[in-house]
Amino acid sequence: MVVGEIGASTGLLVIGAGPGGYAAALRGAALGLEVTLVERDRVGGVCLNVGCIPSKVLIHAAETAALAARSAAWGVKLTAKVDMKALGRHMAEVVEGLTSGVSGLLRDAGVTVVSGQARFTRPDRVIVEHEDHTSFISFENAVLATGSRPVELPALAFDGARVLDSTGALALERAPRRLVVVGGGYIGVELGTAFAKLGSAVTIVEAADRLLPGLDASLARAVARRLEELGVVVLTRSSAVELTEAGLLVAPPDGPAAEVAADKVVVAVGRRPNTDDLGLEHTGAKLDPAGLVQVAPSRRAARTLLAIGDVTAGPALAHKATAESAVAAETAARRTAAFDPACIPAVVFSDPELATVGLTRDAAKAAGADVRAFRFPLSASSRARTLGDSHGHVEVIADGDGTVLGVHIAGPNASELAGEAALAVEMAVTLDELAEVIHPHPSLSEAIGEAALGALGRPLHVRGARRPSPG
Ligand code: FAD
Ligand code: NAD
Repeated sequence: MVVGEIGASTGLLVIGAGPGGYAAALRGAALGLEVTLVERDRVGGVCLNVGCIPSKVLIHAAETAALAARSAAWGVKLTAKVDMKALGRHMAEVVEGLTSGVSGLLRDAGVTVVSGQARFTRPDRVIVEHEDHTSFISFENAVLATGSRPVELPALAFDGARVLDSTGALALERAPRRLVVVGGGYIGVELGTAFAKLGSAVTIVEAADRLLPGLDASLARAVARRLEELGVVVLTRSSAVELTEAGLLVAPPDGPAAEVAADKVVVAVGRRPNTDDLGLEHTGAKLDPAGLVQVAPSRRAARTLLAIGDVTAGPALAHKATAESAVAAETAARRTAAFDPACIPAVVFSDPELATVGLTRDAAKAAGADVRAFRFPLSASSRARTLGDSHGHVEVIADGDGTVLGVHIAGPNASELAGEAALAVEMAVTLDELAEVIHPHPSLSEAIGEAALGALGRPLHVRGARRPSPG
């Protein structure tokens, strides 16, 4: 086989088989395009293989183990012993079940899946490096869905042994005795909480003045309280200086750096887009200073190039990548399409779970809205009480005319409640409509209706919050 002589052509080339790329390939095929999908690693991308899915298996297992402590108060005596190796096997089975499912869908759809690393050499051609040879693929349109990778701190290079990224943390065969997590964002909070429940003594080192600085402060407070109960030490306005023999030197905002003992250090300080080393200069695409591909609402980045998912601006979330994939495929199929959602829900699988949908109170005010809002405490939710988990709240934010602009939730199953919240914001329902929806009883979803009633000035189950209904 002569290097460089193998060539193929396709209508739509998709690079990267994560939740953006594989969904773009499936949608493109459904629209009648001839589709080739190139993936250098594993179908499913970060999300299915080393991100969303394995982390949620770990979090669910840790939460189950933590039930032993919680359920004693309900008269149920449990003891929990976690076998991390067996948990690892279960994690691998879940991942394999889902990724092989995706491979099956791609096969059924007639998508040609190519294993290799793609790089543009012309606006309409990539070179693909396979294990033992290279090939070329020409295309009419390409969708770039190459995702992101963790940011590495110069003083804490990932070594796969003591200093780990999230992938390394998810592959641990035992919970470290002392774990330091650098970065108190999504990953730091999710993994820090899970390992605390699995028995690790956890310290989170966060540069900002609080955990989850990207989220509403009231949501982050609920998580900080629970982390304290779990014995997690949170060092805010602090930075990791260097690794020491016994742990990590951490600099507080004032005073000298102090050593925090650590057997493992997980660094989760954000992710950067995989847009370097792709030959994008041959496509006409423009990158912003953060390396993100600049796209039009149609996801068009250049004459032959579309881009979606973590390589584009906006929250680096799987469902955002998937939603953009449909737009990119439609654009490639010469249909008119635009990515213009009213909201992109975000969920942190912390304890309690957090969900943030649409505008926060502050953002709505900043946008000039005459804000009507109500925060319904889960202590007043009968379902939360029956679950023995009534910390948290549901807050509904509306405009002066009652249009729902945002819903923000801290509490059990916030991730599931986020679906109704997203529907409400996306459909621009009013507080009256939300309050009139008959929510099943007893269910956590009632809290959304209760918060809407509260914002209308006629709360049902909250004492001392009654005020005359306007009009
Ligand atoms: P990716 O999933 O990153 O896929 C990109 C693919 O492109 C990869 O498979 C890569 O191998 C391939 N690739 C890269 N370059 C090339 C090349 N040159 N040639 C060929 N192939 C290439 N999001 C959520 O919404 N919910 C969660 O609960 C959640 N949990 C997470 C937990 C962790 C620990 C992490 C790290 C992330 C989590 N995320 C979560 C974020 C989510 O994983 C990403 O937003 C999502 O995977 C982005 O999808 P994507 O399709 O843009 O890229
Ligand atoms: P992140 O942006 O969520 O959090 C990074 C945190 O690190 C921030 O709080 C930041 O202030 C802090 N930080 C930055 N530099 C620091 C330093 N030198 N020292 C200490 N702290 C520092 O990033 P992440 O947690 O790495 O996650 C990456 C992305 O993956 C998330 O933004 C999210 O889009 C996605 N993700 C989503 C989920 C989910 O949907 N449940 C879960 C995990 C990851």
